[in-house]
Amino acid sequence: MAQVYFASARVGKWRYEDSMPAKLERLLKQVDLGSYFDPKEWVAVKTHFGSQGAHRIVRPTFLRKVVDGLRDVGARPFVCDTVRIRGLDYLEVANYNGINHLSVNAPVILADGIYGHDNIMVKAGEILGEIAVATAIHDVPAMVVCSHVKGHIQAGYAGAIKNLAMGAVSAGHRHCGWKCGRGAMHAIGEGTLVWDAEQCTFCYQCAEVCPLDCIDFADGKLNYDNEKCWRCGRCARVCPSNSLELPGDDTLFMKSLAEATQAVLTTFKPKKVLYVNFLTEIQPECDCMPAAEVPVMQDIGILVSDDIVAVEQASIDMLLKARPLPSSLAEDMEIQAGEDILGRLHNKPYHIQIEEAVRLGLGSREYELTTLE
Ligand code: SF4
Ligand code: SF4
Repeated sequence: MAQVYFASARVGKWRYEDSMPAKLERLLKQVDLGSYFDPKEWVAVKTHFGSQGAHRIVRPTFLRKVVDGLRDVGARPFVCDTVRIRGLDYLEVANYNGINHLSVNAPVILADGIYGHDNIMVKAGEILGEIAVATAIHDVPAMVVCSHVKGHIQAGYAGAIKNLAMGAVSAGHRHCGWKCGRGAMHAIGEGTLVWDAEQCTFCYQCAEVCPLDCIDFADGKLNYDNEKCWRCGRCARVCPSNSLELPGDDTLFMKSLAEATQAVLTTFKPKKVLYVNFLTEIQPECDCMPAAEVPVMQDIGILVSDDIVAVEQASIDMLLKARPLPSSLAEDMEIQAGEDILGRLHNKPYHIQIEEAVRLGLGSREYELTTLE
């Protein structure tokens, strides 16, 4: 049975040992990093840098604990994400959010290069065929996946699977473009944006949020660069009047997340990847959005496992027991205690991510939970 280690966010006594950074340090000792990572071995610490306005990410203080834990066993860590906006701008976003070499005690890099074209095609499954995995993640022998658990407009629940599927894969490939990258998950078919002129309020939020400046308006019409577009779907997500749509399919999307995750994991030998899920600042949306909302449930804690399915299942089991917070979107939507908060927020079949990951043999839904004293 898979082992999952848990540390609560609650503080029992006012002392450092009861703080979350200290608990993370102890959790990492408990899982015994030395049994996963070898001296002098490069280890990627995969996180999401967030956006200039989305500050509720895995905080640098926690990344630092992971890095220091790896250094203690002699490994050579670096912290990384893939290009979400123009690469150098994205490194600056990491800096804005406090993630830099000085704060995390390790190099902070873009795993797919400053243009997001440094990737390697890896065989995936029936839906994706092949997918462009960031070279630094493809080539590194070991990894710690640090995931901020939250909601997501398309995935419903976003944890380690989403972090690897979308975050270890490039937006596009040098030759085959978005169809070999994240866009292959976000969109189906040709993935052409559909604009409803009747509903559009001309707020221009879609143009502002586009990382590639693909959208502009002239003579009361939306124009967008179909060739250049990554199919990231951000424009449709921020549209307040639902007048932009990127055609998708929920079931295929969830399954493709598991497929891409599998493709990424095939580049590692067994027992070379650890997962750290942070159930903190659990807000409704993805960390790539232009802003972070207030959390919809209270901080729960940190989960660690070497089984991606188990850590995701344990996270979801805890989220299902959480109560909605007042003065949040959960209250606006009149979500009640005992309801599936993320399920109600987005109405997405997120459980398919986990079911498909099990079907692909990525791990076990059965787990034993050990809670840190
Ligand atoms: S999906 Fe929208 S936001 Fe994303 S690159 Fe294309 S036009 Fe820009
Ligand atoms: S975000 Fe939506 S409503 Fe605003 S300009 Fe774009 S399409 Fe129109």
